Amino acid sequence: MAKQKTARVTDVIGLLNQICPPSLAEDWDNVGLQVGDPQAEVTRLLVCLDAEEAALEKALECGVQLILSHHPLIFRPLKRLTPGDAGGRVLFRAIREGVAVASAHTNLDRAADGLNDWLAERLGVVNARPLETLPPGGLYKLVVYVPVGHEQEVMEALFAAGAGKIGAYDRCSFRVAGTGSFRGSDATQPFIGTPGAFEETAEVRLETIVPKALLGKVVARMLKAHPYEEVAHDLIPLANSPVDVGLGRIGQLEQELSLAEFAAQVKARLAVPALRLVGDLSRRIRKVAVCGGSGMSTYADAVRNGADCLVTGDVKFHEAQRARAEGVALIDAGHFATEQIMIDGLSRRLRTLLQDCQFDIEIFTMDTEKDPFNTIV
Ligand SMILES: [Zn+2]
Repeated sequence: MAKQKTARVTDVIGLLNQICPPSLAEDWDNVGLQVGDPQAEVTRLLVCLDAEEAALEKALECGVQLILSHHPLIFRPLKRLTPGDAGGRVLFRAIREGVAVASAHTNLDRAADGLNDWLAERLGVVNARPLETLPPGGLYKLVVYVPVGHEQEVMEALFAAGAGKIGAYDRCSFRVAGTGSFRGSDATQPFIGTPGAFEETAEVRLETIVPKALLGKVVARMLKAHPYEEVAHDLIPLANSPVDVGLGRIGQLEQELSLAEFAAQVKARLAVPALRLVGDLSRRIRKVAVCGGSGMSTYADAVRNGADCLVTGDVKFHEAQRARAEGVALIDAGHFATEQIMIDGLSRRLRTLLQDCQFDIEIFTMDTEKDPFNTIV
């Protein structure tokens, strides 16, 4: 077995950024490291929805050095840092005890294989695609010229570093054969030919797609796998919108249900004691939109995409009235329940990445968090 490496806070944040690039976050958001020393060693981490006092207590009990929360611990600019209010108490104590806190919020909501994919999956919504279309940017085409016979090796290195993903497809690439030419100076040691001599050789033009967050890693792995001393490659920014990131998801139920049946399914799968809904209980539901947390900002996208029902949290009275008038069903399963599922999803994705990087970190999860709203029936 490969030797395990020491991980630091900055290494874990690097992996978190791979799962949900900070560039996906809303401008008003505050994601990433909230408090702590980036160079501190991490052997145990805790994943939670909110870095509240209970989470810090558990972190201290379990010897955790890094808490990963969904909601940012610092949201508005701080004017003072005292234990005088709930947020200040956690910050104050986290600093004193040397526990770092990092958050993945709207970037995790938008990420591919992120919070809203996990919510769709949990609710039985298949073939889910983002509700929101993001503006172009963040995608690059990588073109590299490889001598014939070495294209497989270079391609495998690119894919292993995360290049070539388009929606639900991975290992996407294109190649075409051609002739490359070059002449190295006397100071070179060319892989093909001799220094000072003009060469023409059979090469493959290999193309694939790379998200901006992975550019550094992908290019480094490509250069390592490529046999040439000087690798001809192009990085071309694309005007395409990414197809697998954005707020909310829309997909289908495997079989059509009545609103009453689907609501019962949501209630059971999110383990909530009650939920609120808008719409005739007997109406048929097939196409479903979901958005964890406060997701009514995706209502117009849900309608535009022909959703029969939108599942989210924090629905207001006038929003409910409008949906009823427009004949769109709503299920408000609560902000807490529609987001708490991120604990399982993020832990699972982190575990895989930590193993790939041979970081020996034990992951703890917060299983005692509670919705601040109680329900009496
Ligand atoms: Zn939230």
